[in-house]
Amino acid sequence: MRKPLKKYKHHQFSSPDKYGYYGEFGGAFIPEMLHANVENLRKNYLKIAGTKKFKTAFNKLLKDFVGRPTPLFYAENLSREFGTNIYLKREDLCHTGAHKINNTVGQILIAEALGKKRIIAETGAGQHGVATATVCALKGLECIVYMGEKDIERQAPNVARMKMLGAKVVPARSGSKTLKDATNEAIRDWINNSEDTHYIIGSVVGPHPYPDMVARFQSVISKEIKKQLKKQTGSELPTHVIACVGGGSNAAGTFYHFAEDKNVQLIAVEAAGCGVDSGMSAATTQLGSVGVLHGSKSLLMQTADGQVTEPHSISAGLDYPGIGPMHANLYKTKRATFLNITDYEALDAAFHLSKTEGIIPALETAHAFAALHKLTFKKEDVVVINLSGRGDKDLSTYMKSAQFLNNE
Ligand SMILES: *Cc1c(COP(=O)(O)O)cnc(C)c1O
Repeated sequence: MRKPLKKYKHHQFSSPDKYGYYGEFGGAFIPEMLHANVENLRKNYLKIAGTKKFKTAFNKLLKDFVGRPTPLFYAENLSREFGTNIYLKREDLCHTGAHKINNTVGQILIAEALGKKRIIAETGAGQHGVATATVCALKGLECIVYMGEKDIERQAPNVARMKMLGAKVVPARSGSKTLKDATNEAIRDWINNSEDTHYIIGSVVGPHPYPDMVARFQSVISKEIKKQLKKQTGSELPTHVIACVGGGSNAAGTFYHFAEDKNVQLIAVEAAGCGVDSGMSAATTQLGSVGVLHGSKSLLMQTADGQVTEPHSISAGLDYPGIGPMHANLYKTKRATFLNITDYEALDAAFHLSKTEGIIPALETAHAFAALHKLTFKKEDVVVINLSGRGDKDLSTYMKSAQFLNNE
């Protein structure tokens, strides 16, 4: 067992214990050759993030580069429709179009403080790749993004953006040629270049301390919600917070400062794909079991002999066979309610939000909106939905399905 950090305080749901566990989930299951690198990060991330220099630089970039604070918007039309009070946290207005940049800004500053010169990342839909390429351009650091060959074909606009920002996009040609294969390639690179390279993981997954580090950088979302709700409603606590879950980073950021307060209902929304029992799904809590994926013990979709099952969701950002350890613990302890939404329901919700509030959401985010139909609210409830990203990247999927949905 590794030596725990001194003076480390943790909360029951939002942060891991001093050994890197959320309940039974988490830890660092890594090849020996990564040990020194991950240890170096574990020993230093809180120290670095606690310095005045880091805080000043982080807050300045969040404000002037990312565009924070993002607004908390009272959605009048949706509120009327559902007979309650619905607020939207507008992460879609962040630079590069989603919450992912909050994390990459934080990690690039950590990488700088650790003296790293080279950055690697994995990406599925390309959103994390773009957010990483963006901060590398800003800081003048070399950037290599691993991406499944199949995803490179499917996500051409984001591949072009990464290249324009100066990143090198390397195709992962093994396995299913998607996100999990890209992650394997990135880990292989890190093993070979552990001296000068920092690996920017894009969600609350990976070996400890990544889940905690990413959750802390994303926690700015709930920190702002508290302040904005207080101003708009007189109370800093909502009754419900709702977010979609791929690996779980936007949900972790949205839940973070509410997780210890049991008066706030946490609602996590997974992708059911074609339906939980269809064999084409990404609803990890419903289909998964305990295992180790990408360096941490969590829930994941796997066969009886431990091979990772191929997930399916229409939204590339939710098309992941696992969830982060914080969410596995929120599920296991029943602190959060987990719902799942099909491809069809998500598409329908995306068209509905566009027409009722004038906001085209990312397909991932649309899952969180579809969940409104699965819940009942009281008139006086205060419901916050995290609008994790904008829908520009999904327009071709929306147009293809418009006819099928009778929504032309
Ligand atoms: C990547 C992405 C997600 C899923 O990732 P999490 O780590 O679960 O947040 C959700 N929404 C958008 C817009 C994304 O780009």
